[in-house]
Parts: sequence; structure tokens; C-alpha cells
Amino acid sequence: NSKCEIISVGTELLLGQIVDTNASWLSEKLNNIGLNVYYHQTVGDNFNRLASVFEQAQKRSNIIIVTGGLGPTEDDLTREVAASLFETDLKLDEPTFQEVQSYYTERNLTMTENNRKQALYFNGGEVFHNKVGMAPGLHFEHKGVLWFFLPGVPKEMKWIATEKVIPFLHDKGLTEGKLFHRILTFQGIGESALETELLDLIQGQTNPTIAPLAGNGYIMIRLTAKANKEAEADKLLDDTEQLVHERVGDYFFGYGDQSLDQQLVHLLSKHEMTLSACESITGGQFASTIVANKGVSQLFKGSIISYTDEMKEEIVGIPHNLLQKEGAVSEACAKLMADNTQRMANSNLSISFTGVAGPDEVNGYEPGTVFIAINYNGETKCEHYHFSGDRNQIRDEAVQAGLKQLIH
Ligand code: ATP
Ligand code: MG
Repeated sequence: NSKCEIISVGTELLLGQIVDTNASWLSEKLNNIGLNVYYHQTVGDNFNRLASVFEQAQKRSNIIIVTGGLGPTEDDLTREVAASLFETDLKLDEPTFQEVQSYYTERNLTMTENNRKQALYFNGGEVFHNKVGMAPGLHFEHKGVLWFFLPGVPKEMKWIATEKVIPFLHDKGLTEGKLFHRILTFQGIGESALETELLDLIQGQTNPTIAPLAGNGYIMIRLTAKANKEAEADKLLDDTEQLVHERVGDYFFGYGDQSLDQQLVHLLSKHEMTLSACESITGGQFASTIVANKGVSQLFKGSIISYTDEMKEEIVGIPHNLLQKEGAVSEACAKLMADNTQRMANSNLSISFTGVAGPDEVNGYEPGTVFIAINYNGETKCEHYHFSGDRNQIRDEAVQAGLKQLIH
């Protein structure tokens, strides 16, 4: 059973000057090939602290990946500390040394003794040459524990991990299949109530595992299956999903990786509800987003694109004096657009969009001002937004906000 540990070396990490993206990237990769990551550690460029972190890792883990501290400068100590733990000496890797040398001669720079350091590897270990930079990765096996040392620079670290370390672990037969996720989203049930309903499953299941997830306003759970093939994982996930449905299926409304329009279409069809729209600022984009989903002809009645005041008056029936007094960009106009469209379409729900896409102001409203009204069950509610970005971003944001409003 694999116990992986990731050690990030660098005082900048501890000072908060850079964020440790290496550890999270590596963790995800290792998890994806079925390896368990049990520890992340971060340590500064200090000999004694590095030594104690390495000793601890050697005792509790069997695959250890270290990033950073492999460079040529005085504070890059990873190599020296590890060599002393491994009780081995450092040898010069000729190909790396040549590359470092030609780097300096090509640029008419003098190579210092320090630069030799970059070409040193552990006697008895392996060198992973790096195609995207000069710093090689290093490997050493010490008392049955596999150690990998990668440069701190993310691009180089990722290349060596993907091209060398992961294939190495595959070849050793250490990888155990991949992790496959499925996210289920619920509505109408609180987070703790959902957890209570599923508690024994959450605690008892090991493959797939079930875990509650915090999401932007949604109640979600993540099912994670470990398997070698996708079909195998699907079967495991289907079975567990079934168990979940038996408990809380009434509140299920979609899969977490679904876009808002997919979720909305799913909800509407589940509740057998119909929808219509009246679009000014979005110019049909809402309708086009909805009709991208299959099966919508049962539930989407259509959209009126009434861009100018004349169209709002003639087609949607917005009174001339409302347009004169309140303006087309107003709560009153948005509500009436939704109401009149609902009546025309005879739908359960109707949504309207009116606003300023820019670049100029309208009615004293800045670009990004959008009113979105929804008529539902004879009641009309309007939200007032201030989006930022260019015309197209504002229209995209308006569509997404409308979808969210409809879902809630
Ligand atoms: P070099 O040979 O380039 O000196 P190195 O192996 O010595 O590489 P560091 O000096 O520790 O690595 O880091 C080089 C740069 O890589 C840092 O300045 C930082 O920008 C980035 N880096 C290092 N560690 C991390 C990390 N854990 N997450 C994200 N970026 C990192
Ligand atoms: Mg460095």
C-alpha cells in the first residue's frame, strides 16, 4: 500500500511570497493513478530543518517527492541534505554538466564552481534529464523508500513528473488504477440533513467513497471510485448513486459537472414545467443557450427578442409612457416584459432581460446594469445587477445570472 509524501522546499514558500502550486499539482497526479498522498510538508532552505523533515518522511512514507532547492546557489541544499541521509556521495552527471557548460560558453559567461552543483547526482541513483530546462530530476532508493527530487520551477517539475516519475512508478507496478469522480447536486435539503441521511454510507463505504462537498450555494456530494478502467468505475459509481437515490433521490437535481443550463433543463423536465423568455440585452443568447440542450422542445416555449423600444411596445405590449417615463432599462419594464411574455406563451415561468451592454450609458445607467425579472406562479420578482467587462462578457454574465435565478 502506497504512502506518498510531498515535500516543498523553499523559504519563499514559508514567507508567503509564492504559493505552493507544486504540491497540489503533484497530489492530484498521484491520486489519479491511485496512489495515496498522506502528507504535504513545506520547509525552508535550512540544513538542519531539511534534514529532520527528510528523516521523518523516510520513516513514515514509501514514495517521497521533493521539489525545489536543486539550483546552483548556496541556499539550494536539497542534494547535500539527502546525500547525507542516504549515506552516499554526489557524482557529476556528464551530460548535464556539458549542457550547463555550453549554456555558459554560448552566452560568453564564466561558469563558477557553484554551477557544477546542478550536475551532481546521488551515487547509486538515477538522473532524469529534463527537456524543458537544465535542471535534471533525481531518483534514489533508500531502504526500500523511493525518493524523487524535482526542480522547483513548475514547468520543469511538471515535465519531469509526467514524463519520467509517473512512468517509473507505472513500471514498478506501484500504480493502482485511477480515481474517478461523480458529483451529485441536491436542492431543497440542508447540508447537515443530507449528511445525516447518508451518514452510514459516508462512514462505511470505501470504494466508491462518499463525501459532502461545499459548493457555491449548492448542496453536493462527491462519489470517488478507484478502478483501472472507466467502465469499471462507472459500474461502481452507478451502484453507489443508486443507494444515494434511495435515501435522498427526491432532492436530487443534477450532476455537479453540469452547466447551469443543463441543470435548469433537468429541473424543468423533472417538474414538468415550461419556460419562455423575453430578451433585450441578451439578444437571443438566453434562448440559444437553452436550446443547445436536447429534449427542450417539451419545455421551452420560445423567446421574444425585443431589442428596441418600438419592438418592446409593438410586440411585447410595453406601454409607450412606461418606456418614456421609466425607460426600457428599468425594473418596471423588466417585470412587464416577463409578465406579458408569460401570458403570451402560457408558460409556468417566464424570464426577461433588459440592461446596458455598453459602451455608452443609457438612462443614466452605467454599462453592466442589468434587470432580470422572473414571472412564476403569478408572482414577478426582479433582480438588479452590475456586471463588469465588455459587451459580450456582460451578456454572458446576464445569461448565467438568469439561469441561476431560475434554478433557485
Ligand atoms: P533552480 O534550479 O531554478 O534554482 P530549484 O530547484 O533550486 O530551481 P527553487 O530555487 O526552490 O528551485 O525554485 C525556483 C522557482 O520555482 C521559485 O522561485 C518559484 O518561483 C518556483 N517554485 C519553487 N517551488 C515552488 C512550489 N512549491 N510551487 C510553485 N512554485 C515553486
Ligand atoms: Mg534555486
